[in-house]
Amino acid sequence: RIAAVDRKVHAFLHVNTEEALAVAAEVDAIRAAGGAAAEELHALAGVPIAVKDLIVTIGQPTTAGSKILEGWYSPYDATVVERLRAAKMPILGKTNLDEFAMGSSTEHSAYGPTHNPWDLDRIPGGSGGGSAAAVAAFEAPLALGTDTGGSIRQPGAVTGTVGVKPTYGGVSRYGAIAMASSLDQIGPVSRTVLDSALLHQVIGGHDPRDSTSLPDPLEDLVAAARTGNVQGMKIGIIKELHGEGYQAGVENRFNESLELLRGAGAEIVEVSCPNFKYALGAYYLIMPSEASSNLAKFDGVRYGLRVLPEEGPLTIERVMGATRAAGFGDEVKRRIILGTYALSAGYYDAYYGSAQKVRTLIQRDFEAAFAKVDVLISPTAPTTAFKLGEKLNDPLAMYLNDVATIPANMAGVPGLSLPGGLADEDGLPVGIQLLAPARQDARLYRVGAVLE
Ligand code: GLN
Repeated sequence: RIAAVDRKVHAFLHVNTEEALAVAAEVDAIRAAGGAAAEELHALAGVPIAVKDLIVTIGQPTTAGSKILEGWYSPYDATVVERLRAAKMPILGKTNLDEFAMGSSTEHSAYGPTHNPWDLDRIPGGSGGGSAAAVAAFEAPLALGTDTGGSIRQPGAVTGTVGVKPTYGGVSRYGAIAMASSLDQIGPVSRTVLDSALLHQVIGGHDPRDSTSLPDPLEDLVAAARTGNVQGMKIGIIKELHGEGYQAGVENRFNESLELLRGAGAEIVEVSCPNFKYALGAYYLIMPSEASSNLAKFDGVRYGLRVLPEEGPLTIERVMGATRAAGFGDEVKRRIILGTYALSAGYYDAYYGSAQKVRTLIQRDFEAAFAKVDVLISPTAPTTAFKLGEKLNDPLAMYLNDVATIPANMAGVPGLSLPGGLADEDGLPVGIQLLAPARQDARLYRVGAVLE
């Protein structure tokens, strides 16, 4: 399937056929031999998976969608990748993304954009457009993404797939190239809610190598997805995350989802999260600040690309400058500049400090809302997939596509996006987002299974 369609979709940056087939053959052999070894195989053993190219893998290159890491191989596996290997899931390859996961359309990849399988002239969302498109185009049944401000959920929404951002700390970040460490989470991409639950169960749980990893044992997410029951549950519509600014067809499918939930026995109420309107602004201070610090390690010495200045002395500053000028794309440079500015002496309190306060207000909005309801619901993105190139020269318009997904990252709460049908005006997929309190990821699967 990859050979047949990826020339057009461009979901993959690297395809790992030989190793994937070898793992599949190994699983087949274990099954054929029967006995205890066959019984011990994980439910997903032999089920292939694509991995976002921000997550490091032994034996396959990791580029983060950047020229600065072209041809770079990690000497170790991310924890999630170790867990996939332990479950004997063949890793199909590495998927395309906006450079260092900065973007909402995958157009900021240094290796060219990914195309939405529903309409090749449209974006697959971002930054994890490759993972979402691979699943939507039936190139992979499962994929891994990372979500800092919506990069699993928004691509899920615009490609008609399921995407989950787990509770912060619920899935190890060890081996995910850091964008904004206090916001980043790895999570599943799939075609069904149950598939995401199965994958979440494989990758989740405590990891001593991630200092922010939660110590709690993982809940039974698969059982929750199988239960699929909202009888007696209270579900809150977030007043600030629909209506004005949301495409009519998105709003229609959203209202239909509410009807479905009502019909299944849920009580639907409206809640207000007044500080969510500041989330996007605060995110674009916190995220670039953390990113500017995380990306300082790409110095032309330690990893990947090294460019020597054409003339003059070979000082460390000049080698670093030449390497970063050539290796980083415009969006990455834009965010490093924003971040270093926001963190500079004299501006720290006004920008970074204020943004952190807004973050606390957003957390309090969630606390107040979850005191009233079990789960929150909104459209995942305000629009369906836009045309390639449409927002490329307007960073603010691009940033606005994440209004509904960013609050969850700011508060560390889990979110799930699932297909809600097609928009009337353009026939493109609409995503419905569910949000739950931290550590209550199981609720997302329970409600998601009813909506599917
Ligand atoms: N689109 C958002 C951004 O550009 C989110 C990115 C992400 O979640 N990695 O920052």
